[in-house]
Amino acid sequence: MLPLKLLFVTPEITPIIKTGGLADVSAALPTALQERGVDVRVLIPGYTHVMEALPHKRHVTELMNTGAHGEVHLLEATLPDGVTLLIIDHPQSYERDGGPYIDHNGHDWVDNAQRFGLLSKVGAILGGSLSPLDWHPDIVQCNDWQSALTPAYLHFSPGPNPATVMTIHNMAFQGVFPPVLTTQLGLPASSFGVNGVEYHGQLSFLKAGLYYANHITTVSPTYAEEIQQEPLGFGMQGLLAERYLDLTGIINGIDKHEWNPASDPHLPHPYSADDLSGKAANKAALQHKLGLEVNPDIPLLGIISRLTHQKGLDLLPSIAPALLAMPVQIVILGSGSSELETAFILLAQKSPNQVAAVIGFNEGLSHQIEAGADIFLMPSRFEPCGLNQMYSQCYGTPPIVHATGGLADTVVDATPENIANGSATGFVFKHATAHRLQECIERAISAWHDKEIWQKIQQNGMRRDFSWNRSAAEYMALYENLLGRD
Ligand code: ADP
Repeated sequence: MLPLKLLFVTPEITPIIKTGGLADVSAALPTALQERGVDVRVLIPGYTHVMEALPHKRHVTELMNTGAHGEVHLLEATLPDGVTLLIIDHPQSYERDGGPYIDHNGHDWVDNAQRFGLLSKVGAILGGSLSPLDWHPDIVQCNDWQSALTPAYLHFSPGPNPATVMTIHNMAFQGVFPPVLTTQLGLPASSFGVNGVEYHGQLSFLKAGLYYANHITTVSPTYAEEIQQEPLGFGMQGLLAERYLDLTGIINGIDKHEWNPASDPHLPHPYSADDLSGKAANKAALQHKLGLEVNPDIPLLGIISRLTHQKGLDLLPSIAPALLAMPVQIVILGSGSSELETAFILLAQKSPNQVAAVIGFNEGLSHQIEAGADIFLMPSRFEPCGLNQMYSQCYGTPPIVHATGGLADTVVDATPENIANGSATGFVFKHATAHRLQECIERAISAWHDKEIWQKIQQNGMRRDFSWNRSAAEYMALYENLLGRD
């Protein structure tokens, strides 16, 4: 059979341009798919960062039919892992100082609809029958609102067309613009309706993708269920519930080269599931580094997070005195809401032997916390997929998580049955309240005191397969199914 051809349309790719987990997926998934024989090309806007990071670009073609944008050049570069990147060269749209979506003052670029309309349009041109390329994809996969008009453009193009997949990384971002842009961006006026791109009287890029794509995916099976209801559907729950047969949740993978305790250059003491002895030495090094009492007998709770309402860490300050009395130690690395930053700094000032709060982003320290903590804390109110709970399982640091989204799908609760059958990897609580969180922490700490059980829970987590290879196999099965090849 001919290799499956995939055009992957995305507004971000690690390490060149990243604001969230979508960038990681856009780098790792195409690579893993290519390793499985897929002929994949990734389409991205030519932001200043992209133009500067890739000096060896080749001219591919001119695109004349992009609507109001005039002539647009398409460039090509090969990434270090061999994946081909297609770059939209349109300096007026993309080459400017600031972020991909906001300027230096934190305001959205005023022409975001046009900028990401162009990304979507080029995705549709390269995917459709009018493409100037010899290469015609079987599937076009779009990611989040920035590329979500592609399925709409293809729907109104002369066929034959590829199958389209709309992947949601976070429902909270939707790309909503004034209705007049519908026709300005080259969509027919008839598409502006309930059965089309309209959402509460506005043009919604995300709604367009969810409505017109042949299939919808999101980054965990539980999140796929949750977004069919209030509140996590963020207004799209009705449409998603109607399309539930076309909606699939696939958990993201993690980068096993970056996150492997046996070879992690950030760790003073490497270790593995077969020999966990280095983990205690990492704990002592972390306690020493952060000025905590160096004591193997006090359980150390680790947190690495954006400090936002989503992450549920506002539940912690009110129960901290009871936890510290047990005793426990707590390490927090993160930044975000100034209220929470201040609460954690005050906690650390009050109990410097027991609490360390590091405000900021620190990659090396995040690895050292994953390795040095005994237990990882992730009480997110919602979590489409989540990465840290997977990292912590690989590092023998069982996570405590709220039963939501990808957390529910990747952590197996240490119930007596799951401990007995060898599947337990962490601790899961329902209802994101301070009381339930405290109960769950107490349950985890009592398990930690039983060294035999604890080691089993650690090793169960360390031996699980969270690789991109597993996720890529699920995407492959989905593509084959969409093309009727299975
Ligand atoms: P989200 O994408 O919602 O922030 P995830 O768990 O999916 O949450 O991914 C967060 C990523 O960012 C992880 O790799 C995590 O380790 C990292 N991270 C978050 N905050 C920090 C920080 N302050 N320092 C270092 N890494 C951080």
